Amino acid sequence: MKSVLPLFVFIDACGWEIIKDGDFVRDVAPQRKRLESVFGYSSTCVPSILSGHWPDEHRNWSYFVYDPKHSPFKMLRPLRWLPKAVTSRRIFRRWLSKFVKAKLNFRGYFDLYNIPFKYISLFDFTEKKSPLKPGGMNRGPNIFDFLEMRDIPYHVSNPARSEDENLNDLLEHIEREVLDFAFVYWPELDGLLHRVGNQSLQIAPKLHEYEARIKKLMATAQKHYDEVRLYVFSDHGMANCDEYLDLRAKIDALPVKFKKDYAVVYDSTMARFWFFNDTARRVISEALKKIPQGRVVPDHELKTLRAYFSDRYFGELIFLVNEGTLIVPSHMGERPIRAMHGYHPRDKHSYAALMTNQTDISDEVSAIPDIYKLMARDAVEAKAENSGAINKIISIETSPLGGVINGKIAIKAMA
Ligand SMILES: [Zn+2]
Repeated sequence: MKSVLPLFVFIDACGWEIIKDGDFVRDVAPQRKRLESVFGYSSTCVPSILSGHWPDEHRNWSYFVYDPKHSPFKMLRPLRWLPKAVTSRRIFRRWLSKFVKAKLNFRGYFDLYNIPFKYISLFDFTEKKSPLKPGGMNRGPNIFDFLEMRDIPYHVSNPARSEDENLNDLLEHIEREVLDFAFVYWPELDGLLHRVGNQSLQIAPKLHEYEARIKKLMATAQKHYDEVRLYVFSDHGMANCDEYLDLRAKIDALPVKFKKDYAVVYDSTMARFWFFNDTARRVISEALKKIPQGRVVPDHELKTLRAYFSDRYFGELIFLVNEGTLIVPSHMGERPIRAMHGYHPRDKHSYAALMTNQTDISDEVSAIPDIYKLMARDAVEAKAENSGAINKIISIETSPLGGVINGKIAIKAMA
């Protein structure tokens, strides 16, 4: 039997709006809190949680950037001759993404999405490492660097394995009492919500499945640890997409040319532009003003969102659509999907959630990067308690002024 297990269960896209009215994990994690998300996609939110930092600090933001000098994709240019009926198919792209990932030695998640092969050698991919591993951030350390530096034994889900395989692996480690910290990552709800939307009848059964797993985890952990600190949390929510915007068609119709005058990445909810002359900047900025489904996010707002990059690495101009609008076709997908995230963090469905059995969550935990503080604190405390270095009671007898005082001092020795 060990003393403490901090158990962090990350359910992708299990946003505040999805859980706020129901009883999801309420009996094992009764304290609930709405958390502000981070501007960007999972490529930003997950690294922010794992590092405790914001995008302008860790520089894990949007996946593709205009950077022909450093583009690793030149080998894919011959594929531009293939017919679009082949190259726009998801199954072909998925297969090719796997091949490219292995060839380029990318360690994180990688997908070619829907970037046209004709232009792919103009772009670089910004997540070459896995944020779920030590050394996985673009800049600075993450929680796994923190744990390894302190020799804190931990479990983290392996995204290459299924949720069930990861769960079994964790249960086995808990039974062997070898852990001082566990980080579980379940991505399936995100995929389901994208496909079926946030009002689908398929959501409740998925939440039940997760709840059953969490209860099983808790029951097992409580047999082997005196105290299990459970935190179930998410990175963002999910908004249904009821309006589609063919932004590319509008920009293509302007008297400026892609590659010669400007470059752009069309994400699902943003378009990020780089300009090569003033005419392109003016013409495109004017055209974007006339699109009611979105707006250009000014620099001062990007700064408050902590997503302003002074070197303009991720784009010189960021156009963001309103919640519920989907840019399609985009470089992320050729066809519409039912729901999306990556809208403004203050939009209703952007908010994330934290559910816990801990009663002392401070007001300082208000946004998803703050989850890091809880992880770092609990990991250190668990290691100290589990190694027996805390609360060693010693008696001290002293006799000042001839009397005898018996005192007990609890020593907090952080190993
Ligand atoms: Zn998603």
